[in-house]
Amino acid sequence: MSEEKYTRVFEKGTYNCSHCGAQLFPSGAKFSSGTAWPSFRKALSGAIKTRPDHSLGMTRTEILCAKCGQHLGHVFDDGKECGDTHEQAGQRFCVLSEALDLEKK
Ligand SMILES: [Zn+2]
Repeated sequence: MSEEKYTRVFEKGTYNCSHCGAQLFPSGAKFSSGTAWPSFRKALSGAIKTRPDHSLGMTRTEILCAKCGQHLGHVFDDGKECGDTHEQAGQRFCVLSEALDLEKK
């Protein structure tokens, strides 16, 4: 499968939930993680819910839309290890393109 819709998109705007339209991620938080998924450093305050996910024999943290509960992807603490030159280590929100809807500025 080819890369997802928003993986290489870096236009200014806000990434909204594709299901309910809630604003989730600012485009300024998006970075190139080298993965096939759109990746963000942070979500808008209060926009995201998390819960432990033990599927596939791994312990991961699932992220969901705080408003409608749509599955968005997972969050990892490996932000610095993704070929990114930002000096600040941090979180990487790894999000499914189909869960997002870019509202361009
Ligand atoms: Zn939603």
